[in-house]
Amino acid sequence: MINCELGMSKPFDIELERLIGQPSYSGAVGVVDVARRGTFFLETFGCQMNDHDSEKVAGLLLSRGYQQVESPEAASLILYNTCSIREKAAQKVFSRLGEYRTKQGDGQVIGVLGCVAQQEGEDIFKRAPWVSLVCGSASYGKLPEMLAQLEAGNHRVTGLDTDTDETFETEVARRDNPWRAYLTIIEGCDKACSYCVVPYTRGPERSRPSDSILREARQLAELGYSEVQLLGQTVNSYRDPTLRKMRFSELLLAVSAVQGIRRVRFTTSHPSDFTPDIVSAIESESKICDHVHLPVQSGSTKVLRMMQRTYSRDEYVEKIAMMRGAKRPIGITTDIIVGFPGETESDFEETLSLLEEVRYDSLFSFKYSPRPNTPSLAMDDAIPEEEKSRRLAVLQEKQREIQSARNAELIGQAFEVLVSGKSRRENQWSGYTTSHRMINFASQDSALLGTYVQVRVTDAGPNNLAGTQEV
Ligand code: SAM
Ligand code: SF4
Repeated sequence: MINCELGMSKPFDIELERLIGQPSYSGAVGVVDVARRGTFFLETFGCQMNDHDSEKVAGLLLSRGYQQVESPEAASLILYNTCSIREKAAQKVFSRLGEYRTKQGDGQVIGVLGCVAQQEGEDIFKRAPWVSLVCGSASYGKLPEMLAQLEAGNHRVTGLDTDTDETFETEVARRDNPWRAYLTIIEGCDKACSYCVVPYTRGPERSRPSDSILREARQLAELGYSEVQLLGQTVNSYRDPTLRKMRFSELLLAVSAVQGIRRVRFTTSHPSDFTPDIVSAIESESKICDHVHLPVQSGSTKVLRMMQRTYSRDEYVEKIAMMRGAKRPIGITTDIIVGFPGETESDFEETLSLLEEVRYDSLFSFKYSPRPNTPSLAMDDAIPEEEKSRRLAVLQEKQREIQSARNAELIGQAFEVLVSGKSRRENQWSGYTTSHRMINFASQDSALLGTYVQVRVTDAGPNNLAGTQEV
């Protein structure tokens, strides 16, 4: 499942760690102590885009001879890849930095990457003078240069441009999941939702050339990845900058055609750019996963207008009808914000009625969080925190009922599952269906990780499915 802060639900004790290529040691970090020299610790906050950026940053560091360590204490370079989508996420980073206030004296170098870096810029040096590197995601292309400056002993290195047309491509990404690989196809965002920091922190939309995407997909397949997830803040707004001018749906089909790729996912889709050819591609090619994450944010057209979401409730519902009419059932999930300025009780009720109308498979819900630089900051009629909390609880309860009913309908059905987790409990495994439902299941087999099996659902709750492997 998609999302900021929450990240993917991580099943059981997933077996991680497979490095792509062996790092060769190429030199020391100028200012650090000898015992920790050339080691880095990287903590990631936020969404899948951040997770994947961290994989690329780790790949870059490994290729320069650094070694990754599991604790900040053991590292010469401590990096935080940050999220500022909601205030709480941004605060978390400053409290983390506070914990490492004294470390510079120990010869450790501390860097802040990602959205908080972009948003706060050089002010981070004022709030946390022990930080040496501040780099927003739009400047990751310059990271090798910045690392060289750090290695030369420079204490104040910044990368804060957003006007770059580069996408962040690296030779090697150190991927966290041995079976599913993220693949960025578009960076930044050109939509201007009035509550959202992403256009400010990640810069304008930049699509990656289709030939480079397909090259990476082939490399991934050769390395043994069977599932790829195409990533972008508005993944379906993809516009191929090459002469081939591939549409997003054509790209989905082309990635599916890569030998060795068995599943293609994509996230996050924007409703305004969600066109019938995407549904046709899902219908015609079973490797394209039957799951669409289509954030609606609100069920009230009035609130959608205030959010500058570029579609009305009716237009959104038409997109849902298009998917429900597909020859192959498609799992649909969404994001919702409650308590946007000016959201009345009847606006909120429209969101509840949308939940009943669409019957989402699952959703992420958030209380509106006012963010710096965003137009909604200046809007009147702020909703009190207690009222936001009440609405969130009501919404989540409604969705819980819907999920209970929807999941119960799956009992007795069999699904293909990519096994990605093994429980400490004997013979218990977990994995995801093509429609991105996680199933915990029993099997007598002993080596299932990374394999595809058929699982029949035997039990269901609002947030879980359980089953047994079909033999
Ligand atoms: N690009 C995606 C889209 O258009 O839906 C979503 C990107 S955003 C990183 C993920 C989710 O965070 C959004 O869908 C929205 O529900 C939520 N979000 C973004 N800004 C927010 C804010 N200021 N307060 C509360 N939730 C917010
Ligand atoms: Fe933010 Fe809207 Fe862009 Fe999504 S589409 S990243 S919510 S501005």
